[in-house]
Amino acid sequence: MAVITFKNVNKVYENNVHAVFDFNLQIKDKQFVALVGPSGCGKSTTLRMIAGLEDISSGEIYIDDVCINSVEPKDRGIAMVFQNYALYPHMTVRDNMAFALEMRGVPKNVRNEKVAEVAKILGLEKYLDKKPKELSGGQRQRVALGRAIVREAKVFLMDEPLSNLDAKLRASMRNEIRRIHNKVGATTIYVTHDQVEAMTMADVIVVMKDGFVQQIGTPTEVYNNPSNLFVAGFIGTPQMNFIDASLSKDGVAFFDALISMDASFKDGVKSFYESQLEELRSDVEELEKLIAEHPRKKKLFSLKKKNKKEAENPLSYEAQLKNKREMIEKIENIINNDAYPIKLGVRPDDLLMANGENKSSHENRFSMEKVSTEMLGHDVIFHLERDGVEISISKPVKEVDLEVSHLELSLDPNAYYLFDPITGSRL
Ligand code: ADP
Repeated sequence: MAVITFKNVNKVYENNVHAVFDFNLQIKDKQFVALVGPSGCGKSTTLRMIAGLEDISSGEIYIDDVCINSVEPKDRGIAMVFQNYALYPHMTVRDNMAFALEMRGVPKNVRNEKVAEVAKILGLEKYLDKKPKELSGGQRQRVALGRAIVREAKVFLMDEPLSNLDAKLRASMRNEIRRIHNKVGATTIYVTHDQVEAMTMADVIVVMKDGFVQQIGTPTEVYNNPSNLFVAGFIGTPQMNFIDASLSKDGVAFFDALISMDASFKDGVKSFYESQLEELRSDVEELEKLIAEHPRKKKLFSLKKKNKKEAENPLSYEAQLKNKREMIEKIENIINNDAYPIKLGVRPDDLLMANGENKSSHENRFSMEKVSTEMLGHDVIFHLERDGVEISISKPVKEVDLEVSHLELSLDPNAYYLFDPITGSRL
């Protein structure tokens, strides 16, 4: 059994880079959780804190009921799989897999039995006497997994384990890891920058950006109900389209189209912006306090190139403060001018085509010009343009005229999203 609980976990590196901010999560026994986000968002730092490779600055991590903050890494019951496999080159596959057991003083016959059993799960029986250099990338990655499984760890941590493999192998290893997970049943945390990997493999995905958790949910929840502009744009291929819109007296206006809304929507948007302003002001106060409490270490301002670069890290308190102050200024202007911008989001396969016979009666109809066609086989993607705005629409080939150059489109009233473009929050 291994339930993993994060309670208000923070990681602040020595240079005041706040790499992980107030991370809270409970991972159920046997669950497969993916931490996903762009490079530098704090995924590896989070994983390394569980493994004990990095101190926890504040907060607690529990495995079952035990707080592991000060438990030795080797006593945490964790096995880690990295992208570079980290196999011992001079040892055979069998010895690589048995190494941890040998270190623990497990007798040879038990080791051999265990290795044989795991090799069978992974289809590695034929390769047990080979050295890593005689194996393909996918096989090596399987040995690395095997080594973790042999140890019977309660928790598996995987840090981009597939990123060294080519696209085809990556896709088949995704299935394989999932299959092994179902068989072995260890609670698994999987770090990846690839949203497709996270979506296809995980029970639950945690989307991160700049050290902050953006959303936690099942792949379907996160796809269908993204909590903000970042998640909406990050999850899903082809990417969600975004169109600048604004609040008009009758609803949300974009191009020459309108999504009609009643008066209460308009009031709702205004009070939403006001509440955002309040929240930002309190964040600024908090950050000013943090900066006063944790003055930067002097050495950071030395002229060494590396340190200079760190001082510009977007996760530093100073950078966050600057960013929040800019947002406050923008929202104050919006409120003063009584002109409320809105970002309209719509997935390429949710746009309705209203060409020819199939004329739509929606008032939110708009036209776009086709600039290019991307044929995918079953589906085709049209890239469209209007007034410098580019969007794409994805449809089954059967349903469209590939030669069309001018498209009449409309929104499905149940399949579009509205965001505040300043903070990115969902309206
Ligand atoms: P990810 O795994 O999402 O790519 P990381 O957890 O590696 O992100 O890094 C998160 C942030 O912490 C980055 O801004 C990175 O520059 C910073 N960082 C990582 N390791 C250190 C370190 N040892 N010292 C200072 N800053 C670090």
